[in-house]
Amino acid sequence: MTDEAWSRLRAVCPRCRTALTADDSGVMCGPCGARYPLEGGILRLALGREGAPGYDPHFFRTLERVEGRHFWFVARREVVLDALRRAVPDLDRRALVDIGCGSGGLLQYLRDRGVTVAGACDAYLESLEIVRRRVAVPLALVDEGRLPPLGPGHDLLALFDVLEHLDDDRGMLRFLHSVLAPGGVVVLTVPAHPFLFDDRDELAHHRRRYRRGELREKLEEAGFSVRVLSHFMAPLVPLLLAMRAVSRFLPRSRRHRRDRQQLEFRVVPVINGLGRALLAAERQVLRLGSLPFGSSIIAVATRPGDGPAAPEGLGSGRGGGR
Ligand SMILES: [Zn+2]
Repeated sequence: MTDEAWSRLRAVCPRCRTALTADDSGVMCGPCGARYPLEGGILRLALGREGAPGYDPHFFRTLERVEGRHFWFVARREVVLDALRRAVPDLDRRALVDIGCGSGGLLQYLRDRGVTVAGACDAYLESLEIVRRRVAVPLALVDEGRLPPLGPGHDLLALFDVLEHLDDDRGMLRFLHSVLAPGGVVVLTVPAHPFLFDDRDELAHHRRRYRRGELREKLEEAGFSVRVLSHFMAPLVPLLLAMRAVSRFLPRSRRHRRDRQQLEFRVVPVINGLGRALLAAERQVLRLGSLPFGSSIIAVATRPGDGPAAPEGLGSGRGGGR
């Protein structure tokens, strides 16, 4: 990969947050003298996790196997692409950085449909090694519990089912706002409805599920102007409620819970076909407007354009965000 490709990731030193300079074996920070190796196409910018784990790397291999077919992943990637195309008219002039890219299925899907990808980062080497086999983009290993080492000037940042894994989601949103250029866009998906929170969320290291109004408030508090804010996966709400009722009668050990989680990732033909049909119908509804319930929420928000790139009134949505 060329230096120019790496420069689009806009990685900074995780210690002092100044821009890095590249040489043959990796990158170096001038001010603090730190060196960060580039091994197997993955830039190692991790210093060590802060706080409790945010993810269980156990699931990456399963994800890689099923995410191209499983109705949940298929619906999510379609909803994301539709929302981006609807809310970001100059999508083809932007380059996306995927923060917390997991096994990279969504990234690969967007890239295959014409979205330029500037790079991705994740806190797990297991995930980045899978992504590297699927998409040739700059990849950085970063820390959980710390803000990602990205510098300013981005025009499209994505966090697909990441925010709910963070203790300080408000801090992350303020950070995203600070590293986006004026007119820059963030696209997010999160699990919805706090009343659905159960031991599956705990097992997935979710800190919370979101109300739609709460996500809007947090985005606006960080300075964003909200363009798209909708629930999706409405057909899953009754299903999740039923599963929660049944799960009271099932064994509660960690191993049993993990087995059940694995079961949810299985692609069972009849159920998967039904799920895909229901969610394909929902996609048509979403193209016309937004949904008031559904087990996930999608948001597309912009940093209001106050720089030369975006004159007043253009691309700033509702201005100050109120
Ligand atoms: Zn430094």
